[in-house]
Amino acid sequence: MASVFTKIIKREIPAHIVYEDDKVIAFLDIIQTTPGHVLVACKHEYQSILDLPEEEAAHLFAVTTRLAKAVQQAFQPAGINLVSNNGAQAGQTVFHFHIHLIPRYPHDDIKIQFKNRIHETHEDDYLERARRIRQALT
Ligand code: AMP
Repeated sequence: MASVFTKIIKREIPAHIVYEDDKVIAFLDIIQTTPGHVLVACKHEYQSILDLPEEEAAHLFAVTTRLAKAVQQAFQPAGINLVSNNGAQAGQTVFHFHIHLIPRYPHDDIKIQFKNRIHETHEDDYLERARRIRQALT
């Protein structure tokens, strides 16, 4: 079944589109976590980053960069979060790859926090984890 974003791309359902080219579309997230919360999606329905060809990723990120600058100019936020949820465990609810661009304002009451495990991570853990990723890249 077509994703809700594919329906937006095909104009089957409405959205506030702010950018579009042959590969990428960007529109306001319906929930507007903060004013100017935008979603940047590939037009092709890749499920997650794991399905995304690198050339499309490069273009998507270039467009995201342009949009971040436009949002900065339009809303003057104090910061911007880029978030991409990939997989249900990571909080993905629309399985059509996209990046959230979330402008941040003083006292906006949004928390994006990483748990600090520095004290429970030994040097051997860092070495082994880095080794596994480097090996997977070859
Ligand atoms: P995620 O949970 O990371 O997969 O993000 C999906 C996002 O899509 C959520 O933030 C939703 O608010 C947003 N969303 C779902 N349906 C629509 C829609 N029709 N128009 C705009 N945004 C939508």
